[in-house]
Amino acid sequence: MIVESQLKVENASQRDVVPAGDYYMKVVKKGQTLRILDMEGNQAADTLFYNANDPAERYSAVDTIREQGNVYLTTGTKILSDQCNVMLEIVADTCGRHDTLGGACATESNTVRYAIEKKCMHACRDSWLLAVAENDQFGMDKRDITHNINFFMNVPITEEGGLTFEDGISAPGKYVELKAHMDVIVLMSNCPQLNNPCNAYNPTPVEMLIWD
Ligand SMILES: [Zn+2]
Repeated sequence: MIVESQLKVENASQRDVVPAGDYYMKVVKKGQTLRILDMEGNQAADTLFYNANDPAERYSAVDTIREQGNVYLTTGTKILSDQCNVMLEIVADTCGRHDTLGGACATESNTVRYAIEKKCMHACRDSWLLAVAENDQFGMDKRDITHNINFFMNVPITEEGGLTFEDGISAPGKYVELKAHMDVIVLMSNCPQLNNPCNAYNPTPVEMLIWD
């Protein structure tokens, strides 16, 4: 559902532009609002959430989908943890639909989906692994990398129950906004994928904004 935000950009307390192929890893405090802005359109922001006070508790696609009775995420979606606690809630969304089934790109899936020579291409999973290695204050490692949300990514479900990666439905300036219900670690890989149409074969930056 399309809902525009009432927040003003000039009032944001933190703003970070994340180039495609890079990551963002920060704590968003309870009560703060995070906006993920698709600056140039058709980008995919592959995102994981963790309880900042106990990173073993983390985003659960299974619980989130089951409890809301919908496989797509949009305004009103409560982002649930694997302990069924509300981590964040989507409070504004000008894109309208986000995927949590397609998973993140990895060098392994690139070889299976596209070609064996794609093994060396940069992938979201690499960015996440670099993030946890460079931010050891969170005490996380490879085993903490689990299923994720693909903000702005268009992965429609076919009548037969399959998944297809389609041209993005996002556009320049579209955003999704989440209000934190607990202190959360946000780990986002701005997808560098060049092998499918989700980002129009042209990875572009996203901006992360936080309001207190
Ligand atoms: Zn990716």
